[in-house]
Amino acid sequence: MKKSVSDFLIAIGVFLVANFVAVLSGFNEHWVLWTSDYSAVGLNELPVALAFLSLALAWYAWRRLQDANASHQELSKIVEQLSEQVEERKLAVEQAQVLSETKNEMLEYEYLRSKKLQQVRMMSDALAAASTLDELQEISVKYLKNLIPDHTVAVLFANKAFENWALAGAWGEHKDKVYPNVKLEECQVLQQGRPYIDSSNTQKMLCDNANLTTIKSVACYPITCHEMQFGVLHIRSERLTESLLSKEDEQRIIAVCNTIGLHFNNAQLRTELSMASNRDELTGLLNRRGLGNTLKREVTTSGQQGYEVTVAMIDIDHFKSYNDSFGHQEGDKALKFVAETLAKNMRARDVVARYGGEEFILVLPNTSKIIAYKKLKMLIATVAKDSEISPDCKRAITLSAGIATCPQDKNSEEALIKSADLALYAAKKRGRNCVMAYKAASTKVSAAKQPAAVSIIPTKQVK
Ligand code: GH3
Ligand code: MG
Ligand code: MG
Repeated sequence: MKKSVSDFLIAIGVFLVANFVAVLSGFNEHWVLWTSDYSAVGLNELPVALAFLSLALAWYAWRRLQDANASHQELSKIVEQLSEQVEERKLAVEQAQVLSETKNEMLEYEYLRSKKLQQVRMMSDALAAASTLDELQEISVKYLKNLIPDHTVAVLFANKAFENWALAGAWGEHKDKVYPNVKLEECQVLQQGRPYIDSSNTQKMLCDNANLTTIKSVACYPITCHEMQFGVLHIRSERLTESLLSKEDEQRIIAVCNTIGLHFNNAQLRTELSMASNRDELTGLLNRRGLGNTLKREVTTSGQQGYEVTVAMIDIDHFKSYNDSFGHQEGDKALKFVAETLAKNMRARDVVARYGGEEFILVLPNTSKIIAYKKLKMLIATVAKDSEISPDCKRAITLSAGIATCPQDKNSEEALIKSADLALYAAKKRGRNCVMAYKAASTKVSAAKQPAAVSIIPTKQVK
């Protein structure tokens, strides 16, 4: 039963019991007497009843008030609890939002990170597959651009002479302000051999590339391997920034620069190795192995394009006596002198090789026998004349030469060399210091159109 109803019934009950007790106790008699004034109206017991009723109602009202107070308190408590719960809920929602934002940021960060790592891996594979220095430069620029897209960046590589940095690629807002040719000796990164980072416009950079009137922050990373400096990665900003790259990005870029340096070093070693295996150490000319590849290529091309190739075999006359007279070292100097003189009198496509000892071979593409003959005559005369005055020669040096032409005489490299050798032998026989041409006819070797061989006796006096 509801509390208010039970209270009401209790009040009524109390009232009735009180009346009943009053009547039983005879109190009613007194009342009758006491209230005799009211008997006229027949309401003798009414004030008493009303008093009790008022008391009962007052008690009831007091109880209700208490109840109302209690309910109010309970309600406030519930409201308080509810608002606490609402606050907690709000906090939880906010936390969830922050968490989800953080999670999104983390996902984005992880995505970018894995994308960058993928770029690094792809770059490494591409670099490993590259065969020339130009290719290496191109690949490096392409991937560095993907890795650092948001700044002004220049990638500089040392030129062939290792004198200047030459611009291989630049991007970003101020890419036009990068100086393409900076001397290596002016490069601070090179001087210090480690990254140069200046984010506070300290104006200590010497290099033109860090023209500090406009640049406020600069970071340069060397592209090196061991002691070799191959390039520089230059990042700049026109604003003062605490750091141009985050720590993690910076570490990645340093690793990338090292990878590029390693591949440049490998390419350099490969080139040196191939140079070493194809080149003669003393003269720097192609050696017999290098000549083999070149001659084969020229003979094939001449066959395809229908022109003549003439091969000349040259031998220094009386070189043994030269060595015997002046020593092996002087002999080497003379050999180098002959090699240089031959090489500097060649056309771009002509090839000079040291065939062995004091023998050289010339490959003259698109050259007829008669043109080759004249050329050899000129070369022999030049060597003789220049050796007379050269400090590298102790006496005048004369040469003998034999020539053979493809396809007129022979079609294969080996046969051509053999024919030129036969012609050379004939030149020696003829008295040296002359050219002989191989002829496929009965005589095999012809000197018909040649002047008589000149004296083999050197004209220069011993220095
Ligand atoms: P010919 O006129 O008949 O060619 O006589 P030659 O003395 O030049 O010929 P020969 O084959 O008898 O001697 C060749 C000499 O070349 C012998 C060798 O000591 C010398 N020679 C070969 N290679 C080198 C080298 O790398 N350095 C020096 N200094 N001498 C060399
Ligand atoms: Mg010889
Ligand atoms: Mg000789």
